[in-house]
Amino acid sequence: MLTARTEAAAYVEAATARRGEAYACRVCGAPVTFKPGRVRAPHFAHRPDGACAQGGRMSAAHLRAQGLIARALRARGLTVELEAPLTGERGDRRIDVLAWPPDRAAARVAIEVQASDLTAAGIEARTASYQALAVAPLWLRLLDFGAFRAVQTLPFRGTVWIERYRARAWERWAHDHLGGRLWFMDAGTGRLWRGLFAPAHRGRERAAMFREAGEAPARAADWTQAIQWVDLELDGPFELAELRLKRGAAHGPDGQRRRFAWFVAPGETDAAPPFPPQVRARFTREAQGESRDLQVQIDGAWIPTPIDGVASDWRVRRPPIRPILRPLRGG
Ligand SMILES: [Zn+2]
Repeated sequence: MLTARTEAAAYVEAATARRGEAYACRVCGAPVTFKPGRVRAPHFAHRPDGACAQGGRMSAAHLRAQGLIARALRARGLTVELEAPLTGERGDRRIDVLAWPPDRAAARVAIEVQASDLTAAGIEARTASYQALAVAPLWLRLLDFGAFRAVQTLPFRGTVWIERYRARAWERWAHDHLGGRLWFMDAGTGRLWRGLFAPAHRGRERAAMFREAGEAPARAADWTQAIQWVDLELDGPFELAELRLKRGAAHGPDGQRRRFAWFVAPGETDAAPPFPPQVRARFTREAQGESRDLQVQIDGAWIPTPIDGVASDWRVRRPPIRPILRPLRGG
């Protein structure tokens, strides 16, 4: 954990803690040990025999993510509390990062760094408890992007395109019910990405019959939606320091209106949620099945998009946006 209390102070962060001082758990009051940390970030730990709900060992990546977020939000002038208790809830429920403007204590945002699994019912219930307290949640998926295979780019949008991303149930729920985007943190770089889920499809080729007749193979296929995956468009990377935090509300597909928070990228307007899809698959019926084309929305129009390879530095540098070459008039 990143916070503890002392005789004199109810809230101390590990980043400012001192060796030799006596620290206690904010939840159960048991003594905790300060670990200055050379490999892992500075943190507190229960004695091994502790049975406290707050005693669960956070991964080094999780502790680092919390610290990076807290530092960036404080640099933007927000008040930040780590491992904040949620009033009205059982005492063992803690918010990873709770933030609010100093002059508007009611405008609270809860940033939850989520690497482990959570059921759709679980995230829905936790989101509901935030709603009851007027806290706007931002569920941040922590993931080492080194795990991605077959990374490509959508050159007209300057975004990264991952086919067949196995989105977890809670990620799908958060994406679908809280505005239509899911923010990711690359655990390897600490940078943020805005994720957009598009339906993934699987096509069974119908080319065989054409080849037998000696004709050119057709692209036509029988397409079905592959429900175990989504296709993932990743917009970024962004430095935490360049993102603004914003609160709002939108209706989910279940008709419920929920409050949530998101990041606004530099140069972007405070567009109101829900954020519409900007990538889609279009199917064209052909003699033997269908063909599938990917389209992106540019200036309000859907345009067929190529898919390019990705540069080796894609995790730290945004792909350049390739301009769309429109046919010359009369040419
Ligand atoms: Zn404890």
